[in-house]
Amino acid sequence: PLPPALSDTIVALSTPPGAGAIAMLRLSGPEAIALADGVFAGKQLREQPSHTLHFGTIRDGSRILDEVVVSLFRGPNSYTREDVVEISCHGSDYIVEQILTLLTRRGARLAEAGEFTKRAFLHGAFDLAQAEAVADLIAADSALSHQVALQQMRGGFSQELRELRGRLVQFAALLELELDFGEEDVEFADRTGLVQLLNEVQTLVRRLLRSFELGNVIKNGVTTVIAGRPNAGKSTLLNALLNEERAIVSAVAGTTRDLIEDEVSIEGIRFRFVDTAGLRDTADVVESIGVERTKKRVTQAALLIYLFDITSTTPQELEAEIEALTPGRIIPVLAVGNKLDVASDPEIDAFRNQPDVLLIAAARGDGLDELRAALLQKVRGAGLDRTGQSTIVTNLRHARSLEQTNQALDAVLLGIQAGTGTELLAADLRQALAALGEITGEISSDDLLTSIFTQFCIGK
Ligand code: GDP
Ligand code: ZN
Repeated sequence: PLPPALSDTIVALSTPPGAGAIAMLRLSGPEAIALADGVFAGKQLREQPSHTLHFGTIRDGSRILDEVVVSLFRGPNSYTREDVVEISCHGSDYIVEQILTLLTRRGARLAEAGEFTKRAFLHGAFDLAQAEAVADLIAADSALSHQVALQQMRGGFSQELRELRGRLVQFAALLELELDFGEEDVEFADRTGLVQLLNEVQTLVRRLLRSFELGNVIKNGVTTVIAGRPNAGKSTLLNALLNEERAIVSAVAGTTRDLIEDEVSIEGIRFRFVDTAGLRDTADVVESIGVERTKKRVTQAALLIYLFDITSTTPQELEAEIEALTPGRIIPVLAVGNKLDVASDPEIDAFRNQPDVLLIAAARGDGLDELRAALLQKVRGAGLDRTGQSTIVTNLRHARSLEQTNQALDAVLLGIQAGTGTELLAADLRQALAALGEITGEISSDDLLTSIFTQFCIGK
């Protein structure tokens, strides 16, 4: 018998609500085909082979609701691994509503958010990390985030984790064997070998953990705050960065706005640029509010562009102003000198050889390529430029589990050094395994599943 979570047949609209050319409703569960047969006039679906399309009408008694195309998938060769019927009807909220009502009246249940994907997971179609990648893939809005989500959905990350787990399980089994024998002096598990293995596994776990820094950036973008004195050219720079992209999209004359913040994708990485003085910087009152707001925005940033006017700033002032904004440079700072076009040679020379200072002329677009390259450099700094690497962790939940794995492995290694008994070692090792297992869902709780799948949209 099926577990209660899978015994009923669910239905939902799988395309976005609102008017469209086509809407698609999805039915999944043991009664999916029978329910569809009850409202579909055209062919007997129960007599049709899997993976076929059928034209016909949806009827409520003698009343025709719509002309539709029905796709038939017999389990286990379907997304959920259950019998699935997809009804493509005309994209009208009214029609969709009518068909949904009809089907629920006949015994289907409206699906919860992510329930189709949850069923696929429960039937073993894929693991948890892959299911989460489905949501990431739907949300992906840059080449890189798309690539990473696709790789994770296809099981690359899961495969790597399974290998790690497999290696730990072998040793855990040996330790458990020692425990079963209960003899103090019986050591099946070679401690030197164990230490070596743990070190290897930990190296991989830490590499995955480090990749989260980049993964997070890929998924959520890099909030880059542009700060600087009034008239340094912040708005000019922001518009230059944004409009170069935008010009392609909206070349309508007179639509130039004073943008306050927006996103631009640079080589597949999303940057969210924020101008800290959204209003014109003339009025003193506005400016004083601006300073407080600037400091606040800077603390939320991943990256700071400190823009200064080369013609009216000394290197000492620059240093002091940056220090005032971000004491100790808690976040990476790129100092950018503007108005290169009108600066004198001595003014330019004062900054020429400063590390981490870039000189541009925002109004003319000079130096923007270098600026973009420097931004990428900052993001990928600290050896993060590993987009070619096999696996990048983008999910906070996964990063947390990896951190727990890392700590548990630390505990095992310390225990071995200190000559701790087998029992404690085995317990710590089990904890490392449990933390790893949570990522792919080999070990999962109802709460965890609920919190993951409710983040999906209805119909997915
Ligand atoms: P903000 O107050 O920092 O936002 O500065 P704005 O972007 O409003 O620019 C202040 C003034 O500097 C404006 O008159 C701009 O035209 C001018 N400006 C901005 N960038 C440049 C540049 O690269 N060269 C020159 N010569 N003037 C610039
Ligand atoms: Zn401005």
